[in-house]
Amino acid sequence: MSRAVLEISGERIRENCRNICKYTGKKIIAVVKSDAYGIGIRYIAPILEHVDEVEYFAVASPDEGAILRSLGVRKKILVLGGVLKEEVETLLENRLIPVVSDMNHYRLVKDLKIPFHVKFDTGMGRLGFTDPVKLEGRVEGIMSHFSSPADKDFSMAQIEAFRRIVEKYKDIGVIHMESSAGLIYNLDFTTHVRIGLAIYGEKPIRDYPVSIKPSLTLKARVISVKELPAGYPISYGRTYITRGRTKVGIVAFGYADGLMKSLSNKLKLMVGSQNVPVIGNITMDMTIVDITGTDVREGDWIYIVNEYQTFSHISKLAGTIPYEIMCNISSRVERKIV
Ligand SMILES: *Cc1c(COP(=O)(O)O)cnc(C)c1O
Repeated sequence: MSRAVLEISGERIRENCRNICKYTGKKIIAVVKSDAYGIGIRYIAPILEHVDEVEYFAVASPDEGAILRSLGVRKKILVLGGVLKEEVETLLENRLIPVVSDMNHYRLVKDLKIPFHVKFDTGMGRLGFTDPVKLEGRVEGIMSHFSSPADKDFSMAQIEAFRRIVEKYKDIGVIHMESSAGLIYNLDFTTHVRIGLAIYGEKPIRDYPVSIKPSLTLKARVISVKELPAGYPISYGRTYITRGRTKVGIVAFGYADGLMKSLSNKLKLMVGSQNVPVIGNITMDMTIVDITGTDVREGDWIYIVNEYQTFSHISKLAGTIPYEIMCNISSRVERKIV
């Protein structure tokens, strides 16, 4: 029996892909790096493999690409993080398409006579050529990446820099720059969008123009319920003292499962659409909630993420981004397709 489950809605994921494609008019490069953002690549890959709107998968490293092949993926796989000498074999064995971001990547790749994409750094300060080099060989695609998609002025400067590079490369079939947040710019010179977060049902910014529905539910069991008197301390460090008679529920989900301790005394968990506040410090395996006035019983499910509270909501409270919280969901949490 599982005490904590991450439920994945295949239907919602397919619907999000359709809506992204409808809005942008472009095919999708589905970003599934880092175990599909912590969700579980074993579950996500078979869903996206059968979505027509998805033309490529994108991963961080050749090893991640090899995992995708071992899961039966036949679509194209782009390796965003380039290639090192020791990884060439993995690249070839798995028919992976590397992104070339510097001259060392290029020297390795050009002799292999395989297709590759070229990345340009237009203001991200991470991977990519900062000068508009024109590389010879089987250039299948070119790309760039937004550093601050919420900043319109800076993003426009990046767009113009990339547009000038694109003009130098004639006859390139695949051009991509927009990420989940970046797709608000609706570029007229790109052919694909490179999307992770929005596929998984999280909106990257407020007033997002694409209809995206939550596709993840994170729930855990209540393993004990009890009544405490007023003035009773809760959890390590006694950071919360009950104000009146309090019914508490002990939830089988802690920081080891991915719920950061910094959310102690801040976050609310959910019973359906009803809030139950986290009281006291979150511990390794357990979190304590105030369930006074509810009929929650031992064995019931309490929701950390559902329709009403997404990873994005939680990340704001924690002072971080939804990506980080998703990537930290421990392997102890069961994954289930619903
Ligand atoms: C992770 C990543 C993406 C996807 O970003 P989302 O915000 O999840 O859509 C796109 N491009 C690159 C280069 C990335 O590293």
